[in-house]
Amino acid sequence: MSFQQDDIQRRGIGMTSQRTRERLIQRLYDEGLSNSKVLEVIRRTPRHLFVDEALSHRAYEDTALPIGNNQTISQPYMVGRMTELLLANGPLDKVLEIGTGSGYQTAVLAQLVERVFSVERIQSLQERAKEQLAELNLRNVVYRWGDGWDGWNALAPYNGIIVTAGASEVPQALLDQLAVGGRLVIPVGEGNDQQLLLIVREEHGFVRHALEGARFVPLLSGTLA
Ligand code: SAH
Repeated sequence: MSFQQDDIQRRGIGMTSQRTRERLIQRLYDEGLSNSKVLEVIRRTPRHLFVDEALSHRAYEDTALPIGNNQTISQPYMVGRMTELLLANGPLDKVLEIGTGSGYQTAVLAQLVERVFSVERIQSLQERAKEQLAELNLRNVVYRWGDGWDGWNALAPYNGIIVTAGASEVPQALLDQLAVGGRLVIPVGEGNDQQLLLIVREEHGFVRHALEGARFVPLLSGTLA
């Protein structure tokens, strides 16, 4: 772990001042994020390396930014919030992520859980994310180019599932692939009318918690090179 952390810290220096990052962390704290482990991981993860160089000066603003292919890197608040919700009942060993995108949420998760399984429908985005995580020496991630509506059945069940795109409904496959005691965090709805849901699988069914509004790019079907 310590090599990995050194690596991440070293690569973060220079490009963007530590002070800008501290401001972001303070803001996330003020907005209600409270898991100090999650905040610390966000503090040390170099978000500017996950966006185009032309946008790197905005990387520590609490906002989504374009990453090409009509997709966006998620807003840091949402990354933190969803990660906190996943971890709220204790550490997780197997987490399925739908929507690798830039790999930023993946990088945050990889530092907090044992193993991340990340599915993305756009191959070129995923290739870039893969390279970035390898450079940061985050090795506990396995990637799959595929349609997240199907989850990743071969490696199920998962203790945690996180979906980083807005789904028109909760994909049945993800419910099926959730372990008993497992937690699914997913924005559901269309356009500006999405709501973040936490779904917990219990012995005899699912408990659904409706949380705040959200605004993610849509969870689409099929794959794209
Ligand atoms: N967590 C990412 C968010 C990227 S935006 C980040 O912070 O960078 C949402 C991502 O979900 C996009 O990359 C999009 O291509 C992907 N996506 C949309 N529908 C999908 C599907 N059905 N299966 C897998 N990935 C999907």
